[in-house]
Amino acid sequence: MFSKILIANRGEIAVRIIKTCRKLGIATVVVYSEADADSMAVEMADEAVFIGPPPAAQSYLDAAKIIDACQRTGAQAVHPGFGFLSENATFARALESEGIVFIGPNPHAIEAMGDKIESKKFAAKAGVSTVPGHVGEIDDPAHAIKIAEEIGYPVMIKASAGGGGKGIRVAWNRKDVEEGFPAVRAEAKASFGDDRIFIEKFIESPRHVEIQVLGDKHGNVVHLFERECSIQRRNQKVIEEAPSPLLDEATRNAMGEQAVALAKAVGYDSAGTVEFVAGQDKSFFFLEMNTRLQVEHPVTEMITGVDLVEQMIRSAAGQKLPFAQKDLKITGWAVESRIYAEDPYRGFLPSIGRLVRYDPPAEGEAHGTIVRNDAGVREGDEISMFYDPMISKLSTWATTREAAIDAMGRALEDFHIEGLGHNVPFLAAVMDQDRFRSGKLSTNYIKDEFPEGFHGTAPTGFQRDVMAAVGCAMHRVMTRRAAPHLMREDWVVVENGDRRQVRVSNGDDSLTVAFQDDGRSLTLTDVDWRPGKPTFAGKLNGEVFTAAVRPAAEGFVIRHRAAQAHVLVLTPRSAELHEKLPPKKAADTSKMVLSPMPGLVVSLDVTAGQEVRAGEAVAVIEAMKMQNIIRAERDGTVKAVNAKAGDSVAADEVLVEFA
Ligand code: ADP
Ligand code: ADP
Ligand code: MG
Repeated sequence: MFSKILIANRGEIAVRIIKTCRKLGIATVVVYSEADADSMAVEMADEAVFIGPPPAAQSYLDAAKIIDACQRTGAQAVHPGFGFLSENATFARALESEGIVFIGPNPHAIEAMGDKIESKKFAAKAGVSTVPGHVGEIDDPAHAIKIAEEIGYPVMIKASAGGGGKGIRVAWNRKDVEEGFPAVRAEAKASFGDDRIFIEKFIESPRHVEIQVLGDKHGNVVHLFERECSIQRRNQKVIEEAPSPLLDEATRNAMGEQAVALAKAVGYDSAGTVEFVAGQDKSFFFLEMNTRLQVEHPVTEMITGVDLVEQMIRSAAGQKLPFAQKDLKITGWAVESRIYAEDPYRGFLPSIGRLVRYDPPAEGEAHGTIVRNDAGVREGDEISMFYDPMISKLSTWATTREAAIDAMGRALEDFHIEGLGHNVPFLAAVMDQDRFRSGKLSTNYIKDEFPEGFHGTAPTGFQRDVMAAVGCAMHRVMTRRAAPHLMREDWVVVENGDRRQVRVSNGDDSLTVAFQDDGRSLTLTDVDWRPGKPTFAGKLNGEVFTAAVRPAAEGFVIRHRAAQAHVLVLTPRSAELHEKLPPKKAADTSKMVLSPMPGLVVSLDVTAGQEVRAGEAVAVIEAMKMQNIIRAERDGTVKAVNAKAGDSVAADEVLVEFA
């Protein structure tokens, strides 16, 4: 066994590998670029070696620097994680020639599977069912059209060297091929330095199901069942689960056997994944093999109890697999959500920046469920533009799919991030959808369910109750502090303009909100909130919840999962007056200048008391390396300035308020 391993990667996967090395008593070395000097991986590893500037080509992709780092530290083996050099056979060979072990498959297997055209040929020979199509290079648009018409539309134009969802395009007709062929070719050339293109049948409304395989250097290969990764945007996975709700035992076995047959045919000797595209009728076709650890490996670990990183290290060290196929079984159900720095309300655009707040849910086992959060960041860290904008991978396990999804919903409630756009509300919305819960998945899921994009969800009855109770509780605490003489029992709660009369009273360690119209009452207990805290946790009539809360110019903005409301708590008299006010258009934000994106305040160009005219510059915010001038939308007098140069602001954070 190795005594020291170098990890040629960064972020959550570097941290993930360090954890297993610690368990095995193996010392760790990480390499890091300038952008990662203060990262969690660097802090956790036993040693860290600086390898250059932030762009990956000059650091994480520079094989010579990584080999040099091994030699300087005496690392005997390299774990490449995923991405970067993980599927680079030249790198694996270079290590070998220096006497360093590559923790991954042998270079021959990487080469055979690394290329989509070659791997399809190989798979067909090994008896694996492949997507109907043309297994060979295509030279020009005319050739592409001829092939597409032989296969029959729709077809998929793919880069042979593609990965990470890049270099893929669907064509529904001749015109799409004419336009798509050169576009995919250009993208392939730019992203992978290889412009070989092929075409295959596009399977409509497909599902993505993949088989985890594991081999050793003694000819043994097993599979660790399947994962379903159909919830994708831009051909990239966002939610994965294991097992798949599509498969029955017979299909699972057939897929598993084909995956093992392919792995054996190629002499596979590490962890790898055979990806299939499956029809709703459970037909399935080979897509590609990823010759590395997969992003979504935690769900497999949770249902099998196998540590895949440990097994990769052991087989790289020449050990035999400690189990046979018959020893493996599926226990329970696991779901993974990829938490991305991207703005679901703005077409999932990357939204990098600083994690001003980062407060993940507690990990571990409780009430028969397990929560696991694979992260490589801490509060205050930056999600940089140089690398993948993933913040963490949140996984939950339970004995049934339904319970695992419920646990994920709860864990997402407890995930609090500020400072950049993130997809937590979006993920929560999916967990609450009947279609997702019933397992009717497809890679079109996001397009089907959110045709106009994601704009949050309308609150359910329970969520409206949460918002009313939380609003009353926060209002009561703040009134008691600021104006105790105004304490009273009768209030009117206004949620997104909808008003209800309530009677609010305190018990011992509880707050009761009784609705005057229907006589229902809500009891809030186990409250965890104080003024200034951005989350409000508690139990509502015994049901646990966490809401994200923030004060607005008037009242509060309260979000529970994907539903958000502006909540006001008013005296009956001011509610009456309020009702007479003309309905406000863009809520209260007409009196504020909000930051349109997360970013850094470069300058704030107005001061309290200043008269400002519509169109005048109010502030400059830097985001994604661009300076954006924020202008006043109306004439007015500045009442308050809430930010200053150097602050990190979230999207919609109030920069300036007008009188
Ligand atoms: P998974 O199937 O595990 O989701 P992806 O294909 O999405 O894998 O890729 C996993 C990671 O590897 C991502 O960070 C992706 O950006 C990166 N990646 C995958 N293929 C390539 C490639 N050919 N070149 C560079 N990065 C890649
Ligand atoms: P990458 O290397 O980028 O992961 P894949 O070949 O695995 O590329 O394809 C990525 C995704 O695109 C798949 O998960 C699947 O959703 C979709 N896809 C790929 N090929 C097809 C196909 N022939 N028909 C339908 N969908 C496909
Ligand atoms: Mg793939």
